[in-house]
Amino acid sequence: MSASGAAVPDVVELCRELVAIPSVGDRDGEAAVVAYLESLFAGWSGCDVRVVEPAPGRPSLIVEVTGPLPGPTLLFNGHCDTVSETPGWTRPVHGAPLEGDRLYGLGSTDMKGGVAAIVCATLAVLAAGGPRAGTLRLAATADEDAGMQLGVPWLASRGLLDADAAIVAEPAGVERDFQQLVVATRGYSYVEVEVVVPKLAHASRYDPTRPHAVAVAADLIGAIERELRPGSVEHPLFPMGSTVVAGYEFAGGEALGRLAERARFSVGARLLPGVRGEEFMEQLTAFIGARARVAQVVVTPIAVSPFATGMEVVGDHPLVVLARAAVRSAGYPPPPLGGMSGFSEGAYLAARGIPTLPALGPGRAALAHGPDEFVTASSLRAAVSIYGELIAEILRPGSPIALAARPPSAGTGPQR
Ligand SMILES: [Zn+2]
Repeated sequence: MSASGAAVPDVVELCRELVAIPSVGDRDGEAAVVAYLESLFAGWSGCDVRVVEPAPGRPSLIVEVTGPLPGPTLLFNGHCDTVSETPGWTRPVHGAPLEGDRLYGLGSTDMKGGVAAIVCATLAVLAAGGPRAGTLRLAATADEDAGMQLGVPWLASRGLLDADAAIVAEPAGVERDFQQLVVATRGYSYVEVEVVVPKLAHASRYDPTRPHAVAVAADLIGAIERELRPGSVEHPLFPMGSTVVAGYEFAGGEALGRLAERARFSVGARLLPGVRGEEFMEQLTAFIGARARVAQVVVTPIAVSPFATGMEVVGDHPLVVLARAAVRSAGYPPPPLGGMSGFSEGAYLAARGIPTLPALGPGRAALAHGPDEFVTASSLRAAVSIYGELIAEILRPGSPIALAARPPSAGTGPQR
């Protein structure tokens, strides 16, 4: 279905091209990457290409290719933004010649490699005349690494990413490529705690049984870290359970010789699948309330970031079974089921009821956000073949993926 002799690019070359385009989310935005990707689809007929831009300079690209027969919709997602460069790089940040199997560059593993692979897999489907049945939907999205607002959560909440199965091309490797089959992620919750101790005496008459706000806050920070265990505490894929960090930020104290009446700190929790951020906040509020009575303080937890609930797809779901077979076909050992200790935007898709693999992509998570990040050329090529096998197995008559019962999607939002 190439109208003008367009060809499917080599995935390693495409990854290199994407790495060469700066796309730090909250500095450069994603417009240049999205424009480049959009241009790759320009020579093809048979696909529906749209750019959705909730805020200026923060676009996402959505491409759809539909087969001649009814069938499920399979979504591939990857984010186009990167973190900003960390100190310590010994190679050019925006691209270097291949060193053996390694392509170095900012965002190579997280996750321009994954974006390159899902784009090449989609173009290969176009070159083959489309899927046999159903719809292939590609979403190359904005705003994952810094804000996590304008990309997947924005699009998903408007039904623009609805599908019967979804694959996020975040790195499946940790230290080795395709090391595990990630079927779950933890969620997160950030809250702010404000300690107020009004009408304290002059410091010269300080009564330590009625501590000042900074002392109360310091006590609470220690107690939260030592004692607070959010929600459910065990999960086979997450030996560390849910984890809490108290005191990411701290402010308090006004002047020497003046007892602090106010202190403020933030608390972040990484929550096991199924534990909602709201539940954690309620638990934290009760935990603090029990201590606040003793200390006679007022404590106000405030949500400072949207909550995101972790997700899990069951191990015998056809998507999982097919993905394991495809990883094996690509020449890797059969990957054990794994949990992602970080977060994947696949959780927003799972929250829509979409069976989702939150990280089935090239690259290694251990290299993300660090100097001399690289992706292997072999994992890029493997990813394209894994996606090709999944597309062939899922987008066909008699697909093992069931069609979701879902109300028709709502508005489509701004487009250009
Ligand atoms: Zn990522």
